[in-house]
Amino acid sequence: MKIFLLVCFFAITSNAGAQNIDSLLPVRGFCISAPRPAELARFVTFINEELAPRKINTLVLRVDFNYQYISHPELRDPGALSKEDVMQLVQTCRQHGIRLIPQINLLGHQSWAGTTHNLLRVYPDFDETPEIKMPAKYEWPNKDSLYCKSYCPRHPQVHKIVFDLVDEICDVFQADAFHAGMDEVFYIGSDKCPRCKGRDKSVLFAEEVNKIEAHLKTKNRTLWIWGDRLIDGKETGIGMWEGSFNGTHRAIDLISKQVVICDWHYERPDKTAVYFAMKGFNVITSLWRNPGIAVQQKQDMQDFRAHSALEMKERFRGVMQTVWSDVTAFLDGFYQNSKDSDNGNNTPWASFTTIFPK
Ligand SMILES: [Zn+2]
Repeated sequence: MKIFLLVCFFAITSNAGAQNIDSLLPVRGFCISAPRPAELARFVTFINEELAPRKINTLVLRVDFNYQYISHPELRDPGALSKEDVMQLVQTCRQHGIRLIPQINLLGHQSWAGTTHNLLRVYPDFDETPEIKMPAKYEWPNKDSLYCKSYCPRHPQVHKIVFDLVDEICDVFQADAFHAGMDEVFYIGSDKCPRCKGRDKSVLFAEEVNKIEAHLKTKNRTLWIWGDRLIDGKETGIGMWEGSFNGTHRAIDLISKQVVICDWHYERPDKTAVYFAMKGFNVITSLWRNPGIAVQQKQDMQDFRAHSALEMKERFRGVMQTVWSDVTAFLDGFYQNSKDSDNGNNTPWASFTTIFPK
């Protein structure tokens, strides 16, 4: 009888522990590039041995063109993931109860430095600013204020193609949510775009968000985006990267409240999650490579949940570790516990292990 009661006690306490962490932080996320096929086995091991024991329950994989799309083979990267590769990821995540969410950058981030990505390379007509040529040697800042190219959200053919990709990648990932990126959109409503010139940039941005959200909703999928375009970067002092300088921030009052906001701040633990929650959005604070800031962001999220009205509490969904290198660079740094360039610990792996201990 004593043994039976002891077993019951442990069962109850361990169950209470699980409930407790879900109550403190319902979403415990990790976001990284999807692995290339050669990195797949190592990444699956990382999911099994590191993400799952650290109770990560949401994995956002930035796929973009790293998949052998059947709907648009012309947009595949060379050496992209196969369907069988993705099934390994799906099955591994399912074993651990990890929600797998694919990402394709929509609207912005259609180029990087001097490289045009597949969509605009194959379909140059979709370019919002075709008059701006890619430089031989990329530098920031530059005379064109070129950070990344965007597609024109009012081009009549663009959505047919990008929604084919979105549907296909969500099907193969068996996903009930899709992350569309939509961060750092500097080129929008160009004065030289015949379809967009003179239009309110916040309306253009909101129309694009709502169009993607409505498309996903027809298949019972939820849209996730980064939050920076919805923050007034000037008024808040948050700046032109983590906030908007081109007027898109007013879109916060024009987009569907069903959109999940990944609110990223890497230099300070800005409290903008409260802003999004007060506007009616589910919000996830996204952190990067400073463990001290990350600890504060995690604590803030728990405090927001503890000290808010019931209506707001459940909108504070949790925190997500973001990684902006590829899988190889991250895993090398993680397993070697590499220092940063100042021989310190401002690294994404140090942040990750601090926020999500085993
Ligand atoms: Zn346009």
